[in-house]
Amino acid sequence: MKKWFAVIGDPIAQSKSPEMHNSWYAQEGVDAAYIPVHVKKENLEQAVAALKLLGVYGFNVTIPHKTAIIPYLDEVDETAKQMGAVNTVVRLLDGKLKGFNTDGEGFVRSMEEVVGENHRQKPVLIIGAGGAARGIAFALKKYGYNQIAITNRTLSKAEEIVDALGIGNVISFEEASSTLNQYGILIQTTPAGMKYGDMTLPFSVDRMSHEAIAADIVYNPIMTPFLQHAEAIGATVVTGVGMFIHQGAIAYEHWLGNYPDTNSMIAQISGQLGGK
Ligand code: NAP
Repeated sequence: MKKWFAVIGDPIAQSKSPEMHNSWYAQEGVDAAYIPVHVKKENLEQAVAALKLLGVYGFNVTIPHKTAIIPYLDEVDETAKQMGAVNTVVRLLDGKLKGFNTDGEGFVRSMEEVVGENHRQKPVLIIGAGGAARGIAFALKKYGYNQIAITNRTLSKAEEIVDALGIGNVISFEEASSTLNQYGILIQTTPAGMKYGDMTLPFSVDRMSHEAIAADIVYNPIMTPFLQHAEAIGATVVTGVGMFIHQGAIAYEHWLGNYPDTNSMIAQISGQLGGK
């Protein structure tokens, strides 16, 4: 029987996930379809019950439901529980729904695909302390990045992440700006630079080192102001497309058992967004 998958969120029309997963099904010869479903906050519980009842094979969860969905799932993977967010739901053999988080792992795979594994001893600064930053912080720790600082507008949210991680420290935007050259890896996780958004970088990044690895998780546009600055001074740039593709590939593997081709998908989606 044809398998079907979905992504739920609000808004959802802009999501590139249906195109990515449907392309992979075609490449891999899987008889399946992946559809976007617009779900408003107040309908989340009913939507999850409906997906389960109608036999969804698996689904992704995006803004604003990644945390709110947790009570409506039958099981949640331990790491996703610690992260407090689910972006991938798997239907188990007994029909129960189990939540996972592939965002953080997707980020680290994407960054290491560009820069390799030899930078794990470098000090890392995460800018932002939202859901994505939390997942990334946990995944970085898992891969052995042990010097992690987090800066955020709301410092208490950064402190919560550091407490949950058991490592790292919290710094203000002012301190981050003035000590930026001390960090070998900078990860921008706020919506600054997003197309249709109006948020600018929360502090000056003039002190970025030309030896730094600068990653942004915003991927539309591909070259955010943060990455444009990094490129201009000769720093190493990691765009957000790789994270998006790898989080999707890890979800695909949860559902269908193999890792799909990420290289051609990164090229396909980057091309559409005006990147290389
Ligand atoms: P979130 O949970 O809403 O967190 C947003 C973060 O940005 C918070 O740290 C927030 O600070 C900060 N922020 C928002 N507006 C700000 C402003 N005006 N000034 C300073 N800081 C501000 O969002 P998220 O889920 O982490 O997602 C963040 C971004 O990552 C989004 O653009 C999303 O599209 C992107 N993303 C990309 C991928 C990918 O695959 N590439 C995956 C997930 C997310 P406060 O804590 O002070 O509010």
